[in-house]
Amino acid sequence: LARGFRQARNRLAGLTELSESNIEPALREVRLSLLEADVEIGVVKAFLSRVKQKAVGRTLEAKVKHEGETMQVSASDHFVKICHDELEAMMSHEGEPIVWASGRPTGLMMVGLQGSGKTTTCAKLARHIAKQGKKPMLVAADMQRPAAVEQLKVLGNQIKIPVFNISGKSPVEICAAAEAEAKKLGRDVIIYDTAGRLAIDEKLMQELAEIKSRVAPENIFLVVDAMIGQDSVKTARSFHERLGISGVVLTKLDGDARGGAAISIKEVTGAPVLFSGVGETTDKFEEFRADGMASRILGMGDVVGLMQDFEQVVDQKKAEKDAERLLQGDFSLDDFLEQVRMIQKMGSLKDLVDKLPLGGMFPGGLPKDVNLDDRELVRIEAIIQSMTRFEKRDPYALIREPRRAERIAKGSGTNAEAVAELVQKFLFMKQMMSGLGQNMGMMGKIPGMK
Ligand code: GDP
Ligand code: MG
Repeated sequence: LARGFRQARNRLAGLTELSESNIEPALREVRLSLLEADVEIGVVKAFLSRVKQKAVGRTLEAKVKHEGETMQVSASDHFVKICHDELEAMMSHEGEPIVWASGRPTGLMMVGLQGSGKTTTCAKLARHIAKQGKKPMLVAADMQRPAAVEQLKVLGNQIKIPVFNISGKSPVEICAAAEAEAKKLGRDVIIYDTAGRLAIDEKLMQELAEIKSRVAPENIFLVVDAMIGQDSVKTARSFHERLGISGVVLTKLDGDARGGAAISIKEVTGAPVLFSGVGETTDKFEEFRADGMASRILGMGDVVGLMQDFEQVVDQKKAEKDAERLLQGDFSLDDFLEQVRMIQKMGSLKDLVDKLPLGGMFPGGLPKDVNLDDRELVRIEAIIQSMTRFEKRDPYALIREPRRAERIAKGSGTNAEAVAELVQKFLFMKQMMSGLGQNMGMMGKIPGMK
């Protein structure tokens, strides 16, 4: 799957603008690799149309500091990021994964095919919940396999959680008796381990439906083996139709399972993947993270990381608010420092000015002394941090009173000239800002400041 996305990205190499026609080859690659990973065709189509809608028209390029290197964000990087975000949106859910009961013990019923990992997951969930300070009780209601009850008892013993069972009784009878037992023992969560079959059959569904109506659990979790691919969606659909599942636990994600199941299941059933099993022991259990899975499916964590840095730099809302304030002439040395840091992240000041519609302001090119390199930025930071609040508010004081400049120079390990130079740069920038402010409408053309 990841390889397909990488090929898709390569198809976009060198493009500066994504258009309806030039992203087609990339979309085809993505389509193929999603289908190969057993994602449902309907789900694939919906995904592609959303990606297309968001990608067309993307042109923005800018430099961004990423892990110490200055890198270029290209149109193809945008494409990857859009894919990532769409994948994430398809798998994500809001709110707490478990619905808690009030006035009685919370019920969690595990259902799924044989071998999917139900019994193991019951123990993992019990451990997870106990860590949150709750007192779970396990119910062994799989009477299909003689060893199933014993298996749960062994696990319960390991994690010191009581396991309830009545030998000789039917699963429905056992589950029906569990709530009274839990109350007696002072347990506030009941986890029901049920039987599975190799394939869905009517008798199994009948039994589960009966258990459901007898205990009315707040949560019905479908346990799905991530390794079984497309079949997992069929399984999810029939369990959902019959029982109404509230969430999914995807197991065996520690293997080389492809992510297809995770993408389709929520789209098809509406029930989100809530937890993942990542190993055989009871501690190998996590709350499902959609962004992590999206990265795993894409296999391009590097590009996504780059884009996240990028988006941080051009955080639209903040830029908007800042711009408004700065344009009103309210520009302090702290703003200057922040501005300088942002520029540092985006490349050199000269690069930035080249991108801005400021050409007309500097007919003779950018004044030489406003360009900044990395070493200078460190110095600027040190100088500003050595200033008192009064001096930050009124930098002219440093020119009026050379003693202040001397003190700051000493405090920042620089010299008086460097301090004077900084004040000049600040005043220049301030002037530039108010120049921009008078040129209203111009901000709209600055990348990331619209
Ligand atoms: P059940 O029939 O649905 O109750 O499934 P079990 O809980 O008995 O698990 C079946 C097999 O899958 C066992 O060998 C488990 O150790 C294994 N298993 C369950 N969850 C995971 C997991 O997240 N990762 C791995 N690697 N193995 C798992
Ligand atoms: Mg079992």
